[in-house]
Amino acid sequence: MSRIEIRNLHASVAGREILQGLNLVLPWGEVHALMGPNGSGKSTLSKVMAGHPDYAVTAGEVLLDGENILAMEPDERARKGLFMAFQYPSEIPGVTIANFIRAALQARLPEGGELDAVEFYQTLYQKMDELEMDRAFTARAVNDGFSGGEKKRNEILQMAMLNPAYAVLDETDSGLDIDALRIVADGVNRLRGPHLGALVITHYQRLLNYIVPDHVHVMVQGRIVRSGGKELALELEARGYDWIIKEAGLTVTPEPADGAAR
Ligand code: ADP
Ligand code: MG
Repeated sequence: MSRIEIRNLHASVAGREILQGLNLVLPWGEVHALMGPNGSGKSTLSKVMAGHPDYAVTAGEVLLDGENILAMEPDERARKGLFMAFQYPSEIPGVTIANFIRAALQARLPEGGELDAVEFYQTLYQKMDELEMDRAFTARAVNDGFSGGEKKRNEILQMAMLNPAYAVLDETDSGLDIDALRIVADGVNRLRGPHLGALVITHYQRLLNYIVPDHVHVMVQGRIVRSGGKELALELEARGYDWIIKEAGLTVTPEPADGAAR
């Protein structure tokens, strides 16, 4: 069955265990939201799935259509159809958006394969038209001096071009205006369907007013403590996280708000 299955995942960063036995199933064709208080380990999960070298997996597996991706290099994970968008994306001065996306597509071709340049630009411009993006945008360097909204457009354009089987989007809510939220939501809503499984990570419920998830999971202290339908997100919006932490029998020391960058 096509899906991502995370089994008993434990991971540490800087010598501290952050993910503490995480289990999560993301079936193809569904949009799942991952919520949780700041510091619960949501971004750590996305870094581990991407293969970030600072994050050490100490137990468990992440199966993509039955194959453990944790043993694969990051580029191999991408070739298997995994797309990651980070909360704090890197700037790549000197590399234009068009060339970046082209290189990413080229890297996924079998050895000796050559991307058709005419076809590439046709598709690129078509996607940009759909996303209501100015063509001049592709000539800018990746994330270099981008506004929050521009970073989001770039992220969604990459996703549309790479056409992944699974996408993990770690969304920063703080500092994002409503336009930027809409860009992400429109992008995901346009791409969602039977050929995409998406995990949308968010601290606040607000984004989920625009991307209505099929399932909602709540992470506390590196574990999923509750899963439910979209109404769970509304309940969290109304009641906060404290009750869920209490019901899970946990105590959490509050961390500084999101945006204390990492
Ligand atoms: P969330 O995204 O849910 O807010 P994070 O995964 O960013 O949570 O952080 C979980 C915990 O891991 C926090 O206590 C954070 O300080 C710690 N952490 C995450 N990344 C690093 C890092 N690179 N170095 C040190 N500590 C980290
Ligand atoms: Mg985070």
